[in-house]
Amino acid sequence: IGETPKPHLAFLASPGIGHTTPLFELASRLVTQHNFQVTFLVITTGSTPAQTEYLNANPHPDLHIVNLPRVDISPLVSNDTTAFVRLCIIAEKSIRTSLSSVLSRINRPTLRAFVIDVFSTDAFEACNELSIPVYSFFTSTAAFLAFSLYLPVLHNHVKDETCDLPDPVKVPGCYPIRTRDLTGMATNRSMDDYRWFLHHVSRLTKVTGIFVNSWDDLEPISLRALLHEPYFRDIRAPPVYPIGPVTKRTEPEESCKKILAWLDKQPKESVLFVTLGSGGTLTSEQLTELAWGLELSQQRFILVVRKPSDCAAATFFSVGSDKDDPEVYLPKGFVERTKRVGLVVGSWAPQVAVLSHRATGAFLSHCGWNSTLECVKHGVPMIAWPMYAEQRMNATMLSDEVGIAVKMPVMGDGGETVMVGRKEIERVVRVVFEGGEGGKMRFRARELGASGLDSLSRGGSSYETLARVAESWKIGN
Ligand code: UDP
Repeated sequence: IGETPKPHLAFLASPGIGHTTPLFELASRLVTQHNFQVTFLVITTGSTPAQTEYLNANPHPDLHIVNLPRVDISPLVSNDTTAFVRLCIIAEKSIRTSLSSVLSRINRPTLRAFVIDVFSTDAFEACNELSIPVYSFFTSTAAFLAFSLYLPVLHNHVKDETCDLPDPVKVPGCYPIRTRDLTGMATNRSMDDYRWFLHHVSRLTKVTGIFVNSWDDLEPISLRALLHEPYFRDIRAPPVYPIGPVTKRTEPEESCKKILAWLDKQPKESVLFVTLGSGGTLTSEQLTELAWGLELSQQRFILVVRKPSDCAAATFFSVGSDKDDPEVYLPKGFVERTKRVGLVVGSWAPQVAVLSHRATGAFLSHCGWNSTLECVKHGVPMIAWPMYAEQRMNATMLSDEVGIAVKMPVMGDGGETVMVGRKEIERVVRVVFEGGEGGKMRFRARELGASGLDSLSRGGSSYETLARVAESWKIGN
């Protein structure tokens, strides 16, 4: 008698390591803790070595990675600020043409659900045809999920094409959001990106359930609103399942050796780690000021350096592929002058390995949600340097509500990006390492890190929430 096949799930993430990583970690969890097999569909562009390395570093016999036909990104210009949306649009075409045939090759009776992220809603049609329930994994904050569920309503209320959103935006039951903290994609009605964003978030109500990468102690107000505010019931929002922090757990061993050997020689909690997500890039002038600010602060640091660009997200498609010597982008003599306290790394560093090292004392981050959760999980305070997407909103939340970050003043009064000078950078770095404020943020970050781990362990809220959904999939509900 043959063994009963394990229940099966399929996953699809939209392009970018920031979407792929949490979906892949959720898939791994369902395989190792809840006994599913997963087909993990990947959109490849052929230019993201960091993502390929990460996916291949975590093999499991029940987690099958299947590459969808490669997406041609040659029409995209990487320093175009709207390139992410353009890439998604190209990928969406590929999803529509290839998904049905990929799904029909999976043993259908065992396929229980299809899990996507917010920008992969083009999978709906194929899943509907095959009667497969779709779940969304919202890979950002509960606050941004609440906003995203509110935007279609706001859009219909504010009819005037040229009319700005109210300031602040008051999502029912949530903290008010300063409009200038919102991504342009969600505010600027004249942009194609706005229509694209609205299209996807409008379809959030069509999924069977929404996972969100957060938990009670981190976002009590927004989660309470999502779960209990009548507004969300009235718009028929699907059930929301907080299952965070779902984060990358390991790094490819080879990539860690040099950096860990350096960290091993540094005192406890003494090093500032500086890296700006998968896409973040600074202008040449801003990188120069940052380097000077670090040098003036006399603090120990690891600085990840990328080729400067006028576009804030220039490496989004190619992260990890720049092999240039990072020294050429820095002020003359910087590496030599700071070699006793600093380590300069080109393009990409094994972030989780660095954040989990006892010598790491703070993280200067663009506040992407994965970076934030990895940081919180290891109890490290932050210097918030938001750059694109929902990061300004995250930065405000982390500094004003959660109390684990100090904001770098990168935004002018009108919401425009401004250059931060070396003296200001020096000051903020000192606040985190030298002042009492830094100690308070570290204490709070540790508390939250412990609470995040609790919520993920058996009996914890995130573990049990996921277990309940997994059980319902197994019995076919
Ligand atoms: N990352 C890394 N090394 C780097 C920069 C980023 O390993 O030098 C990883 C980081 O650990 C995180 C992801 O890239 O998992 C970035 O995701 P996030 O949501 O923070 O930002 P995004 O890249 O989507 O803007």
